[in-house]
Amino acid sequence: MIQTDVIIIGAGPVGLFTVFEAGLLKLKCHLIDSLPQPGGQCSEIYPKKPIYDIPGFPSVLAGELVDNLMEQIAPFKPGFTLGEAAYAIDKLDDGSFVVTTVKGTKHQAPVVIIAGGLGVFEPRKPPISTITDFEEKGVDYIIKDPEVYRGKRCVIAGGGDSALDWSIYLAEREIASEVTLVHRNSSFRGHLDSVQKVIDLAESGKIKLITESEVIGLNGGSQLEQVVIQHAANGEIITEADHFIPLFGLKPSLGPIANWGLEIEKSAIKVDTLDYSTNIPGIYAIGDVNTYEGKLKLILCGFHEGTLAVQSAFARIHPEKKNVLKYTTVNGIQGF
Ligand SMILES: Cc1cc2nc3c(=O)[nH]c(=O)nc-3n(C[C@H](O)[C@H](O)[C@H](O)COP(=O)(O)OP(=O)(O)OC[C@H]3O[C@@H](n4cnc5c(N)ncnc54)[C@H](O)[C@@H]3O)c2cc1C
Repeated sequence: MIQTDVIIIGAGPVGLFTVFEAGLLKLKCHLIDSLPQPGGQCSEIYPKKPIYDIPGFPSVLAGELVDNLMEQIAPFKPGFTLGEAAYAIDKLDDGSFVVTTVKGTKHQAPVVIIAGGLGVFEPRKPPISTITDFEEKGVDYIIKDPEVYRGKRCVIAGGGDSALDWSIYLAEREIASEVTLVHRNSSFRGHLDSVQKVIDLAESGKIKLITESEVIGLNGGSQLEQVVIQHAANGEIITEADHFIPLFGLKPSLGPIANWGLEIEKSAIKVDTLDYSTNIPGIYAIGDVNTYEGKLKLILCGFHEGTLAVQSAFARIHPEKKNVLKYTTVNGIQGF
């Protein structure tokens, strides 16, 4: 059981900054995120896009903002459970909460702050009838640890940056023994330099590039053995493979949080703007996941919400203590 003061569900920009504001109040945080990396939408959807409305930054790349937030919260040593969606929440007799992930990791704290954004990002799965039979047996929708593919025959499908970048990564570093990239069209949606790199690697025999094709079937027993590809002109191609990795992007859904007894309106959690508390005392909701009159789904609004939520959380955790607002300029972070 991981014990902490505040469990933050969602390590997007809002969840990350809340660690800082909690740290100033000497509250220790543990973040849970279903994605393998922190940063939420900024890391997953638009890491290379500049954001122009973060106060004090005329322009900052979304990925850079996440790096900066990670640096800013480092002194407070937050814990992380990444790559695991928070699945269930239980209230104990002492009023504390236990949050359990899909993998069974348990976390206990007196306060839970939900910073779940648009929800859990679920993979877009290709319409192959047997695909779920081979999940955990060779089919993966996200690459968490490339070392898993060392010496393996991998078929990647997709035409965006993820499919291109991972094909390059696994082939160029000679991690996979064989990399086949299957794409429906003859042109790709990814960055031009990645497309060129894939073409170069295909010409040098390091990537087997099969365009105008779709994966239509999977064969195997206890493990994946073959991938069946339909080529527009040449018909069926059967490729021996240990892994099939369709990288067609992720789509968000509120997911398990919707079943926790929270008041939900239009796929978002209703909160009291006094402190961003939900209808369940001790559970707060901040950032894109909440709703109230006048809500704006902007990062800076989420930062404000997290700041007020931890003030309320402090009063809940330490009812006997009086919190006096201190400026960081007075003693720096160590002074808190
Ligand atoms: C293309 C694009 C451009 C944008 N540009 C701007 C801009 O210029 N300025 C601006 O202010 N905003 C912009 N936004 C919006 C901004 O990205 C969001 O407001 C911001 O990401 C919200 O942060 P968050 O931390 O609340 O949620 P998110 O960034 O969505 O992070 C939430 C995290 O919670 C995780 N999660 C959800 N449910 C669970 C669960 N059950 N268990 C574990 N983890 C869970 C998710 O995996 C995710 O990582 C843009 C958005 C997009 C898509």
